Amino acid sequence: MDDHEITRARLVMLGRQGAGKGTQCVRLAAHFGEPHISTGDMLRAAVAAGTKMGLRVKDIMDSGALVSDELMINVIAERLELPDATRGYILDGFPRTVPQGEELDEITADRPLHVVINLDVPEEVVIERITKRRVCSTCGTNYSTDVPPTRNWTCDVCGGEVVQRPDDTEEAVLERLALYASETLPLVPFYDERGVLLSVDGLGEADDVTARLIAAVDDRLVARR
Ligand code: ADP
Repeated sequence: MDDHEITRARLVMLGRQGAGKGTQCVRLAAHFGEPHISTGDMLRAAVAAGTKMGLRVKDIMDSGALVSDELMINVIAERLELPDATRGYILDGFPRTVPQGEELDEITADRPLHVVINLDVPEEVVIERITKRRVCSTCGTNYSTDVPPTRNWTCDVCGGEVVQRPDDTEEAVLERLALYASETLPLVPFYDERGVLLSVDGLGEADDVTARLIAAVDDRLVARR
């Protein structure tokens, strides 16, 4: 490892829908100076742009189901080859199944992951958070029915329309949480066996969770040097 390499962070964020992954990943990306790579954001951008891939995944996403491993693996393999991601990144939403985790092992064989965070928030808490969640359809800023934008569901940041995500309805949320338990949770022992798992409590104020995450990740990065 050269001097430059040890300053980089290759992180994966696992956690239930509504655990706060997106919010925390944006903050970790800013803190560590790494790109935030969110497969959900990439797919939503493809849907919004009406690309071939977007048309293929729209109905799957709206129903709360998972996009195929094959498609996701191609998307992420291409993304991780871009120059901004060759040394470090904060991966959000990938891997989401054990086959995706196995494939990521292959893709990162020469630059392995430093830390896989399991942002832990109980199911009953996330159900409440998600059904209250509202999001700007233009820039993606998150709001909730408890903390709405200041003006009539118009985004404070960009003026876009603030709406409920189609996959945040109660029916889709229950489907997504069931899939999280059956498909994604097995990645927790998968990464624990590889010695890179870090469980962090995701309850409480967002700023407190950020401080907790940065401290825990810093500890790990230092210990691995
Ligand atoms: P959430 O974590 O709240 O479900 P995301 O924004 O991460 O939201 O993902 C939204 C949707 O995009 C998922 O429900 C799924 O349909 C699709 N998706 C994102 N990442 C993956 C992935 N790695 N594998 C399969 N489907 C994915």
